[in-house]
Amino acid sequence: MKLVVQVRLRPTPEQAAALEATLRACNDAANFASATAFTTGDRREYALRKHTYREVRARGLGAQAAQHVIKKVADAYTTLKANIRAGNLGSEGSRRRARAESKPIVFRAGAAQPFDDRCLSWDHTAHTVSIWTAAGRLRNVAFVGSADQLKALALYRKGESDLVCRDGMWFLYATCEIPDVPVTEPGAFIGVDLGIANIATTSDGARHCGKGLNAVRHRNRELRRRLQVKATRSAKRLLKKRRRKEARFAADTNHRIAKRIVTEAERTGRGIALEDLGGIRDRVRLRKPQRVTLHSWSFHQLGSFIVYKAAQRGVAVIHIDPAYTSQTCSACGHVDKANRPGQATFSCTSCGFAEHADVNAARNIASRGVTGWAVSHAADDAA
Ligand SMILES: [Zn+2]
Repeated sequence: MKLVVQVRLRPTPEQAAALEATLRACNDAANFASATAFTTGDRREYALRKHTYREVRARGLGAQAAQHVIKKVADAYTTLKANIRAGNLGSEGSRRRARAESKPIVFRAGAAQPFDDRCLSWDHTAHTVSIWTAAGRLRNVAFVGSADQLKALALYRKGESDLVCRDGMWFLYATCEIPDVPVTEPGAFIGVDLGIANIATTSDGARHCGKGLNAVRHRNRELRRRLQVKATRSAKRLLKKRRRKEARFAADTNHRIAKRIVTEAERTGRGIALEDLGGIRDRVRLRKPQRVTLHSWSFHQLGSFIVYKAAQRGVAVIHIDPAYTSQTCSACGHVDKANRPGQATFSCTSCGFAEHADVNAARNIASRGVTGWAVSHAADDAA
């Protein structure tokens, strides 16, 4: 399994200045190469290198950096072409597409730049990197990451890493090839119900609420409303920064929730049953004020974090159809809309079973996981 690990660099002010100058030089050179690719029409790496290599080197980039810059530009045009072909920028003649095709691709000053092992080396004991810069080799640049990330890096990092500057922070994105861990046959399943007030509720009754996250979202929504009135450049920049910060906070919350759920499943020898999120937008019908707090991408992100953390530990994951899980009694199986008198309460009209609504749903998800696993593995055995 391929996993991209992100670590944050903690450069000294002098180191940060050198990194900034380097990334700027690389992206200036990339913009030069991009303009050349655009005017000449030569967008393949080899042809582009013939046109631009000398000039890119003359801008103070080393041989490796120059090659990476040119490849990055060629790759960007390949991606653009693929996006256009896939219709991601609208159909032929659409404004978005026309705009993308009418001018060279532009790289911002802090845009990602790949570094290979000759330009970047990692010290996993000292938690530092040594990195090529336009001003020479920079040694002992400190980096920080979670224990899991640092372990994956030390054991499985392979190939190039991307240096990025975002909102004044420095990051390295490194690709790790995580070996497959054989899946342990689950004795039972933990069901996970995804929601708004509680981001994730398990069939064990553990509720992972997004209180902090929802508070941040509400604050940002208010701020957005005020700033959107004055659509100045600085207001836009501030909004963008806030949005990124919110996304980072959401990702961090999702990481923590996923880790807790996977650890619990591993500890108890169980698998994890997740809702198939295909129709979450349709399924979760919400009153207006809640709609803004619902970001389906955030649910998908939590799901994907659970899937990859589970894969690393050999914990089985199954996706189930969540239809009626919120209206079905997890004790007797009775399905009735009236079983759910309120947002948080479940009370069976047939057998009288009462439980928190999310916990009841999670229990249904868990039992569907058991059935689903048995069915899919019966098929395996027959094959
Ligand atoms: Zn019942």
